[in-house]
Amino acid sequence: MPSRISIRDSLPVYKEDDCEGALFAAKWPHGFRCPRCAHPCYYGVSSRNRRLFECRCCRHQTSLTAGTVLEGSRTPLTKWFQAMYLMQIGISAKLLAELIQVTYKTAWLINHKLRHAIGQWDRDRPLDGAVQLLGEYYGYEYQRQLGGPNAQGTLKPQPVMAGASIDETGQLVQLKIKAVDGPEGDDMAGRDVTDGEEAAERFVQKHVAGGLAAGSATMLPSGHHGRTALHLAWRDAVRWLSWTFGGIGPKHLQAYLNEFGFRLSSRSALLADLIECCGSYRKITYRGLVGTRSGIRPLMWRYRGHARHERGAG
Ligand SMILES: [Zn+2]
Repeated sequence: MPSRISIRDSLPVYKEDDCEGALFAAKWPHGFRCPRCAHPCYYGVSSRNRRLFECRCCRHQTSLTAGTVLEGSRTPLTKWFQAMYLMQIGISAKLLAELIQVTYKTAWLINHKLRHAIGQWDRDRPLDGAVQLLGEYYGYEYQRQLGGPNAQGTLKPQPVMAGASIDETGQLVQLKIKAVDGPEGDDMAGRDVTDGEEAAERFVQKHVAGGLAAGSATMLPSGHHGRTALHLAWRDAVRWLSWTFGGIGPKHLQAYLNEFGFRLSSRSALLADLIECCGSYRKITYRGLVGTRSGIRPLMWRYRGHARHERGAG
């Protein structure tokens, strides 16, 4: 990761108009559409320094940020765009607060709202083609950072399933990492114990185009010695979580894993993809971010990942 000095020097200063233009294009790629009646014409209206769009047909007023993750935020659009720019690197809320000069809480919210939009982006793009899978555990780094015996006792390593679309040369095209017990992982209902194969099958069902009916997914052996693109990506993810954040607990782990996957899956036009996410995806409230999930139920998880896993072969 670049140093904070070099990040600060390279941080672009955006103009409000440019940000509005980019968000407009992301929100209405085919031109303005009234959210109520779909009419394509509007009057530009200004209200309390906000630019509003008034439908020429039904007079409904809407804004650029209405219905998006940016809705209701008092942070200037230019700072949001700087935060999006910085998400190409993946920095902590503390550093973000310092760089774009907002409070820690605001920076934390911006990062998590961006991660929420990324989560939606990820959901819309299942893995495709030749898929490799890797079952690992996340948590050892986290515990090492926390140190205390209490943390060691209560925080179990989180089972994680990483999956990637791989091209003919073995390069990683798209990556998804899902906490097995997390919000996008396994279905908790009706089971006490999950093993690696079962988790892999569920991953394929949820995150690969065509699900179990599609071609075959190859289960890679887990462990620190793997040299495939997927092994390396997983180790990079752990390193990033550890170095940038000092490790991440189970409650928000999935959001960070989605962010990491997004960066690897969208290397060519990351910022453009992020702006598109933010223009088109539904908002989330602070309560929605912190209040709904009360952590992860501890779960026994046996891992038998050394055999090649053929999808649909049972
Ligand atoms: Zn209308």
